[in-house]
Amino acid sequence: MTRQRPPDPYNNSICPPTYESASYFFRDAAEVKAHLHTASGRAGRYGRYSNPSWLTVESALTSTMRSEDSLLFASGMAAHTAAFLSHLQKGDQMIIPAESYRMVRRLSKELLPRLGVTVHELSIRDSDRFIHELASLAPKCRLVHLEMPSSPHQYLIDLEQARSVVPKSTLLTIDASFSPPPNFFPSDFGIDLSLYSATKYLGGHGDFVAGVASGRGDAIDKMRDFRDVTGAVASGAIAALLSRSLHTLEMRVDNVNRKASYLAEKLASHSRVRKVYYPGLQDHTHHHLAQRYLSGFGGVITFEIEGDEEQTSTLVDRLKVPYMASNFGAPQTLVEQSTFFTYFEYDDSELDDIGVSRSTIRLAVGFADPLSVIEEDLFEALES
Ligand SMILES: *Cc1c(COP(=O)(O)O)cnc(C)c1O
Repeated sequence: MTRQRPPDPYNNSICPPTYESASYFFRDAAEVKAHLHTASGRAGRYGRYSNPSWLTVESALTSTMRSEDSLLFASGMAAHTAAFLSHLQKGDQMIIPAESYRMVRRLSKELLPRLGVTVHELSIRDSDRFIHELASLAPKCRLVHLEMPSSPHQYLIDLEQARSVVPKSTLLTIDASFSPPPNFFPSDFGIDLSLYSATKYLGGHGDFVAGVASGRGDAIDKMRDFRDVTGAVASGAIAALLSRSLHTLEMRVDNVNRKASYLAEKLASHSRVRKVYYPGLQDHTHHHLAQRYLSGFGGVITFEIEGDEEQTSTLVDRLKVPYMASNFGAPQTLVEQSTFFTYFEYDDSELDDIGVSRSTIRLAVGFADPLSVIEEDLFEALES
């Protein structure tokens, strides 16, 4: 006798429904065997392993990223943790850029060594030197992690050279949170796994925290198994929000590319501005790499003013349009004084090491603020 189950009332909605089910039923024992025992079918399982709303967004991400497969995670850090821990074993060595995201550095330098992984940190500031050091260390490493553009200086990496000196058997990962499609497609340059804080541009509305991994099918399979076991999963609602955000990704990114390029140029010619770090500017150290690897330069502009830390705070305090907050890729424009936010625990010599001046400001242009409004506020604050 067939069990009575409520039918799906519609099967033709243009927007896929949001699934928030803790588990999914099987129709009979044969289906249990086919789906649960062989893991070949993804439907009809428990909510930590799969969810139809994840599958929808993961498949959209795969086509957006021009990759083979993708996974959704609870946060960008969960995606990084899964990428590293699912591929590394005790005794392995890995490389990270010295300029990588602060928590990726802590994960690599504090947690991984406790598990028996040796982590080498290489600066990417001098591109030739980085490639040279990479060539000598990479053959010993199981995993090489890259990040570009880096924060706050937006350094880039010569990916073709990096790929050519990293053996095929070494997993090459990249944190591309600052440059999502359509600005940058890491898979096109032989990167095995791209990792994103979907909290930033992919989500794009500053209203949730999530992470994404996208890349080679076999590398993603390992991460899926790790996610099943460790459970850093997002809800169906977050998956649905991210699906919706992907429809506007290109529009939003094009919008901030255009506005930030204009503002970066204008800041660079202002007498109170000492230096602007924006990869689209000709005088950025890695502009030649930006031209090769990026087709847009993003919405984040880092600049230093002529003045000390206190004068920098005065200027930032004077801004009325941006929220003072540590994020980017949101509708709102956000601003942070770097030595008060990300680097507040660093002393002068540590700041010197990473080349961060106390007059550094990071402005993340929001797609919802008209350019003229951001511009007027910024230049009024600079001039008073
Ligand atoms: C925000 C961020 C992360 C971490 O992502 P969460 O979603 O906050 O966990 C990683 N890398 C970069 C470059 C980031 O900006």
